Amino acid sequence: MIIKKREMPLSLKKLEALERRLPKKRPTVEVLARQMAGFKGELAIDFSLSFLPSEHYWFIHHKRKPLPIEALVVMANERTIVRHASAASASFSEKIIPCGRIPKYIINIEQTYIKAHYSERELESLSELLLKQHQELDNDILKQFQIDRSEIISGVQCQVCSRYAMEWDRRRWQCPYCRFRMLNAHAKALEDYSLLFSPTLSNRDARKFLHLTSPNYTKHILQRCSKSFIGKTREKKYLLR
Ligand SMILES: [Zn+2]
Repeated sequence: MIIKKREMPLSLKKLEALERRLPKKRPTVEVLARQMAGFKGELAIDFSLSFLPSEHYWFIHHKRKPLPIEALVVMANERTIVRHASAASASFSEKIIPCGRIPKYIINIEQTYIKAHYSERELESLSELLLKQHQELDNDILKQFQIDRSEIISGVQCQVCSRYAMEWDRRRWQCPYCRFRMLNAHAKALEDYSLLFSPTLSNRDARKFLHLTSPNYTKHILQRCSKSFIGKTREKKYLLR
């Protein structure tokens, strides 16, 4: 039974937003490629786990709470070769397996632990508790890579020619280069804002980032795109995620 499905981690979403909005190539590109490969590896492991009978096993993905578990290194890439220098590490090498061998490994573990430690009901309440306590890592990505916020490209991106140049033209966004038009092109830009700067922003912050001049239209956009708001009048901050 999959209790918590794997979702793209917030840190990876932030890296992608950063890649989209940095004017020139930065070392982040390499980090992004590494993290993306890791995420794809986790998906490959999910595929292997799907061969286990779902009614007998409980999986909670991306948990950050430590639990007493069997140590195991799973190679998502089946062609990975691991070499170790010491002969004493034979037992260690048994703990390194390709992901295709996970089902068999888990079934072997099951035979080792005959006694049931938790009832179905206890597992249910335990998983509820774990999910409640789970907090995703919400790092400040600009600080992490020592990037000044002035380096981030602002504006609404055109989905056709990729320029950050879309302009609000009465009732929709329009690209002055390729003439592509879109109604809610601001949504992706606001998502990038929330990932790179802050999950909250004021009408003024939004105008600056979206290159809008009208506070009224900006208010209209923010009311539609935000989950809630805090404060009043000019101090009002909209919550994006
Ligand atoms: Zn365009």
